[in-house]
This record gives sequence, C-alpha cells and structure tokens, in this order.
Amino acid sequence: MLTNLHKIRQNALSSITEASSLQEVKKIRIFYLGRKGKLTGVLRGIGSLKQEERRIVGKTANEIKKEIENAISAKEKELKDKDIKREDIDITLPGRIPWIGRRHPITICGQEICNIFTQIGYSIVEGPEIETDYYNFEALNIPMYHPARDIHDTFYLEGGRLLRTHTSPVQIRVMEREKPPLKVLSCGKCYRRDSPDATHSPVFHQLEGFYVDRNVTFRQLKGTLTYFAYQFFGKNIRTKFVPSYFPFTEPSAELYVSCSVCKGRGCRVCKGTGFVEVLGCGMVHPEVFNNVGYNPKEYTGFAFGMGLERLIMLKYRIDDIRLFYENDMRFLNQFGP
Ligand SMILES: [Zn+2]
Repeated sequence: MLTNLHKIRQNALSSITEASSLQEVKKIRIFYLGRKGKLTGVLRGIGSLKQEERRIVGKTANEIKKEIENAISAKEKELKDKDIKREDIDITLPGRIPWIGRRHPITICGQEICNIFTQIGYSIVEGPEIETDYYNFEALNIPMYHPARDIHDTFYLEGGRLLRTHTSPVQIRVMEREKPPLKVLSCGKCYRRDSPDATHSPVFHQLEGFYVDRNVTFRQLKGTLTYFAYQFFGKNIRTKFVPSYFPFTEPSAELYVSCSVCKGRGCRVCKGTGFVEVLGCGMVHPEVFNNVGYNPKEYTGFAFGMGLERLIMLKYRIDDIRLFYENDMRFLNQFGP
C-alpha cells in the first residue's frame, strides 16, 4: 500500500513539473485529487486496513495529498505569472509616432497669395459657392446668348441655381453693397463640368481681386500684378502682358511669367515659348459698373482672376492637378506645416 502511495506521489509530481498549461494542471488535479482520483481511491480503501496500518497509510496519504496540492498551486502561480508577462508592455519597442495634421498645399499657397495682397491694402471677402444665374453670368456681362457660357460648362441646380464657375460673382456682391474705393480679394472653390485629367478638375480654386476707385488705370493694374508675380514666383522671373478677351473686362489681358522649368529657354511645359500664362485681368467693363449702380464715367477699376492649383503647379513644377485631391501623404508631406 505504501509503495503504491509513493508511486502515485512520484508520478503526480513529475507530471506537475512537466505541465505547460493551466488546462493540463487542472486535469492532473482531477486525475489525482478528484472524487474518483487515484489518491482519493487510496484514502477510501483505508477502512479495510488493520488499525496500525491504517494510521501509517492515512498519515502518509494525507502528507502526499498536501504535497501534491502545494505543487499544483505553485505550478498554477508560475503559469499565471508567465501569462501576465507575455501581455506586459514591451518597453524595448519604439513608440508610435502620431500623425500630425498639416495644412494642404492649396491652403498654404492661398494664404501666401492673400498675404501678398493684404500687404498692399486688399481686404479678404468670401462669397457663396451656390450662385444664381444673375451673379455668375448676367451681371458680369455674360448674357444668355453669349458664347462665353459655352466655355463655362456649368453644374446647374434646382430652381435656377448653379455652382459658381468662377469667383467673379463675389465682385458683383461686394460692389452692390459697398461704394468705392474698394480693394478686395476673394479665394474659394469653383466648379465646372470638366472630366478630371492632368490639368482639369471639376472642383478647383480661384483667386479673384479687384480695385475700384476714381482714376484707376491700366498702368496700376500692371504694377500691382507684376509686384504679385515677383513676390510669389521670385525676383528672377520675367513678366509680360498679352492682350486677351473676357466679357467682364475691357481691355483684357493675360499675365505671363517666364517658365520656371526651362528658365525661359523653351520646354514641353511652356510649349517651347519660354513663358506660361498665370492669370487673366483687365479694366472692369462699364456694363458691369452699370449693373451694380456705379457711374462708369466716375469710376474705373481693374480685376484679375487666377487658378490657384495652376499657380502652385507652375511654382513647384507639379505635373498633375489630381495630386491635390488624392490625399497621398507622400505628396502632401512635401509642403510646409
Ligand atoms: Zn519651359
């Protein structure tokens, strides 16, 4: 009987040592100490023994039981500790760097251009992106039959409203409510029914400015916009004004700056001319003044409008407008905070 007990003890202790999971330990406990367990069976059989033998076997069996229980508890603690350690924070891992938000290149450059103009007395005004036909076309001397409406392929909304195709309606809104002198700049989103490609996007940004007062001249227009071009593109560029046509200005012109890619020698970007067009401008058309209740004989003014994406593309030699809208961090990270 005693030999049997020692065998049970040895087997139990060695399987406890070998156990590698709490599940296994639980099985061992049931196998030896459970109601139908090996040791329990021996203790049950004690009754049939002689008194002297019963005492010795009983004592030994109880000692072995306690020993196995202690071994099981110790093993359980060891396995639990190991589990906790596994879940513990690994302090040797490098920390995760949080994403830091940054301004979009359109915001950065829009702000930069606004600063260039506010330094010479322009104030910033915003206008609605949903416009009426009157403010977007009619008041800007683009009547219903005018061919310029074909150029603006417009998103029309219900009730005769539309998404503005340029920022020029802001001119009308400001002039309707305020009297000259006015020096105003406006920047915002515009919409045209263009299929996205390298140079077109159905949504884009325009910057629009105008100056209205008595005796405003074309020479002032040239001076202001040349100043702007030097501030934005740097002192090393050359500029030229080329006659153009817009319904809301007369005379009209386009400002060209020397190509930043080829430095004026001629390349694919400037189509071999050495110059790229950066904005449209002109003297405000007398009909526009009539529409807002100004006397064209008393007031003159100039206006200009530029595509923000195009300017940024020219300055930073970006060859696809879609990069601005794809939110690729590799692109966006190249611009300042
Ligand atoms: Zn070029």
